[in-house]
Amino acid sequence: EKIPEQSSIPFYKKQIRIALRNCGKIDPENINEYIASDGYMALAKVLKEMAPEEVIDIVKRSGLRGRGGGGFPTGLKWEATRKSKGDVKYVICNADEGDPGAFMDRSILEGDPHSVLEGMAIAGYAIGAKQGYIYVRAEYPLAIHRLKIAISQARQRGFLGENILGTDFSFDVDLKIGAGAFICGEETALINSIEGGRGEPTVKPPYPAQVGLWKKPTNINNVETFANIPPIILNGPDWFSSIGTEKSKGTKVFALAGKVNNVGLVEVPMGITLREIIYDLGGGIKGGKKFKAVQTGGPSGGCIPYEYLDTPIDYDNLNALGSMMGSGGMIVMDENDCMVNIAKFYLEFSCDESCGRCTACRIGNKRMLEILNKITEGKGEMEDLETLRELAETIKDSSLCGLGQTSPNPVLSTMKFFYDEYVAHVKDKTCPAGVCTALLKY
Ligand code: SF4
Repeated sequence: EKIPEQSSIPFYKKQIRIALRNCGKIDPENINEYIASDGYMALAKVLKEMAPEEVIDIVKRSGLRGRGGGGFPTGLKWEATRKSKGDVKYVICNADEGDPGAFMDRSILEGDPHSVLEGMAIAGYAIGAKQGYIYVRAEYPLAIHRLKIAISQARQRGFLGENILGTDFSFDVDLKIGAGAFICGEETALINSIEGGRGEPTVKPPYPAQVGLWKKPTNINNVETFANIPPIILNGPDWFSSIGTEKSKGTKVFALAGKVNNVGLVEVPMGITLREIIYDLGGGIKGGKKFKAVQTGGPSGGCIPYEYLDTPIDYDNLNALGSMMGSGGMIVMDENDCMVNIAKFYLEFSCDESCGRCTACRIGNKRMLEILNKITEGKGEMEDLETLRELAETIKDSSLCGLGQTSPNPVLSTMKFFYDEYVAHVKDKTCPAGVCTALLKY
């Protein structure tokens, strides 16, 4: 079914679909439909008309930042990898999307796999790599199926392989299937996993741009980042940077979920407010209930309350609220959600997914979870709240990778904005939202 452009349907009205431009419009298993939608034109343009440095300059000037969560400027990453010494370099596409409720990358891989291959080939040309890998999670069988078809068709048509489009440039892509570990979304853990080792992060620096896969300079971007590259090349950096805010350019895909009327993927310009997404696109809260909070950034992010609904969304504003952009999960909560319980849910996830390498992350998060269990069972004491805060700060300061460093954010943000709910659980032994069943008997 075709997705209407400039639709009058509220869900689509404020969307600008760049990364999702072809999803739902073309048959992802037919390369002709991608080509008919200007597919592989950007690759042809860079190979015929541009030096690698010019490609990097365009990506830098576009202002594109990594869509996997970190928000690092993509062009700078490419430049660092290009400048690293070495004859052999690699491009990796991180398709190990694992945040609860997030399915942005999955939709791009299932709906428009060639856009990712084209973005990777352009990156390969820019940094000087001949080989790319897509690290895709095993839980995405349809995405894997369609990627295999897309790679095979792109090879047959000469968009991958030796002497692409009759030039000196050769580049190919292989798939690596993950084994269900969330931590393998962290780039050094992902590299270890491709090499056949344990999916554990390593200390940075050195960064993958200097010492990456098989100790060679490696550029890693996520699916959505690569899908943005062909339109940036075709339309120019000024076109892309005219969308968004001063420091966050372009659009972002969010997986809008939770207690909102219209759920699904939305691709919106940076700078749109949370209120616009939740009320204009999302159609407001289900059943006419009261909005309570929205969680962005999954287990690494935080819960943002009503007072901040008019915050324009960009990397910096979300960080300033103690949350983060993350890869694009956006879960809306209403008056019937218990914020202590929500914090517990995300912490359980981080405990399950910690690789166990750092003491603070491995044991600290467990201690925090024990305290949250105590509180939701009506056995909490006021000192527990201070202990939670101290543990959270220690874990943030002393963990090696992003998982540990951000894992306390859901607890810290709910304590910051919904402290009264914690106090109600601890002092009054009640759960204001009526969720914590152990407290209902009090
Ligand atoms: Fe592993 Fe946690 Fe340390 Fe990251 S912070 S390396 S997930 S133990």
